[in-house]
Amino acid sequence: MTPPDGTPPHSAQPDERKPRPTLRSAGDLAACGLIAPSDTAAIARVAERYAIAVPPTLAHAIGSGGPSDPLWRQFVPTTAELTTTPEERVDPIGDEAHAPVKGIVHRYRDRVLLKPQHACPVYCRFCFRREAVGPGKEALTAAELDAAIAYIGAHPDIWEVILSGGEPLLLSARRLADIMQRLSNIPHLGAVRVHTRAPTAVPEAIDADLVAALRTPIDRDKATFVVVHCNHARELTAPARAAIARMVDAGIPVLSQTVLLRGINDDAATLEALFRALVRARVKPYYLHHPDLAPGTAHFRVPIAAGQKLVATLRGPVSGLCQPAYVLDIPGGFGKVPIGPSWVHEETDGVTRVADPDGRTHLYPPKAG
Ligand SMILES: *Cc1c(COP(=O)(O)O)cnc(C)c1O
Ligand code: SF4
Repeated sequence: MTPPDGTPPHSAQPDERKPRPTLRSAGDLAACGLIAPSDTAAIARVAERYAIAVPPTLAHAIGSGGPSDPLWRQFVPTTAELTTTPEERVDPIGDEAHAPVKGIVHRYRDRVLLKPQHACPVYCRFCFRREAVGPGKEALTAAELDAAIAYIGAHPDIWEVILSGGEPLLLSARRLADIMQRLSNIPHLGAVRVHTRAPTAVPEAIDADLVAALRTPIDRDKATFVVVHCNHARELTAPARAAIARMVDAGIPVLSQTVLLRGINDDAATLEALFRALVRARVKPYYLHHPDLAPGTAHFRVPIAAGQKLVATLRGPVSGLCQPAYVLDIPGGFGKVPIGPSWVHEETDGVTRVADPDGRTHLYPPKAG
């Protein structure tokens, strides 16, 4: 089948020389061999509910991998998404309750999310905002963006703005520079953070103009931090690593956030390889998120106890640079908290017991003599 823009259909062996478009429908996925042709109708039903996008870099990285492949599982829809469980919620982390003006989420005293637009370059099948993101979801109008920035300017407690969405780096360099400039003009802001999927999904978007736009706060004596969403070492393709390097080389610190996902990265060796690959690409692993209760994502969830066990395994044998904080966004809008294993056990008589990475416990302070 030929996509409407007249580009040639995909073959199972992508041709490196021709620019390949983003796959956006069940038909596109079938045409390039990512789903079986006989599944097209069923996956089209999933697409009616949740947007599909697999950009060329990721389609290529998936290659001929099927449902057991960690990249396939992240980006290719399945009918499991049509099953919603009772504990799942449309707004799993309670953004709605903390939205004083459109495009702003103000849950914590010193920082807000600013969501200029709601499209993403790839639609992750486990997305925590899957009911809010998608190609049909509107971006902020110029007036709404003005009102959002005015809100930030009027609240001196706000020290940090986190551009989120949707994908902030899908904005043109000109529009991003404009937003960064206006934020940099707010005296009480110390930092602008950008939460992005672009480095692994559309690395080519991170060009010199976009990097210059990201640097705007730095040139105005404030900080820019970029936080890259990345769940598996294989997402760090050569183009993705080059995109990250363009930002780091420009003096922009880059951190990562990873979602713990069943069948994708829920084993110690996979997480260790991911965190090492990130650090090697000069990215500091920041958060390992316990998956949120987004609709149709039960097949991705792992128990908290399993996550704690995994995280505990890495402590000791693996470099401290490779240790993100394991966090849970408490459903209902109560905030993010660390849920990693506890190494400290308080005793009633005031003596503290501390576990070591090899599983022994020790008194602190040690017994005299
Ligand atoms: C996750 C989140 C933040 C950022 O939290 P940090 O712990 O500073 O990374 C800020 N605001 C909202 C609403 C969030 O969900
Ligand atoms: S990039 Fe983020 S917001 Fe977009 S689909 Fe993936 S998880 Fe959701």
